[in-house]
Amino acid sequence: MYAVEDQWSAVLDRGGVVDFFGSRFDVPLQRRFGDLASVRRYVEAVLALPGVVGSFPDAPTVAVRERAGQTKAHYEPATGTIAVPLRSVWAARESVILHEIAHHLAFTAGLGPDADVQDRPGWHGPDYRRTMCELVAVVMGDPAAFLLRAGYESAGLVVGARP
Ligand SMILES: [Zn+2]
Repeated sequence: MYAVEDQWSAVLDRGGVVDFFGSRFDVPLQRRFGDLASVRRYVEAVLALPGVVGSFPDAPTVAVRERAGQTKAHYEPATGTIAVPLRSVWAARESVILHEIAHHLAFTAGLGPDADVQDRPGWHGPDYRRTMCELVAVVMGDPAAFLLRAGYESAGLVVGARP
């Protein structure tokens, strides 16, 4: 899962036209954030997008704090907090923030038995992946979501279906 998202994130670092088995897609250049305030503004804006509100009408707001450890970002379900290392090169990328927002949306929507088990394999299960693909489609557009979904599926990772 991380390998798939890392590869996808690398494509978004370049942005522009991507050739995918002969089909050409235009994907956006992903944002990078330099401080907590800009991450907070971004997260609030994403949660307010009509496409996100439409799919996850009961999603509460999420808090954002800087994470002391600088290796990875994470989501804390108990407090509804995204913790982001701001000084490491990759962590404050849009792809990483969307990953954590997807956890928040999946968890607060009570999606699937895998939604509330932090740091176990199921935490990144089919419901998480479906939420991530839906979120990316709304925020970054269908081509970016298509590439992500294709990446999951080519790695044998099932994307859940909406009930
Ligand atoms: Zn995660």
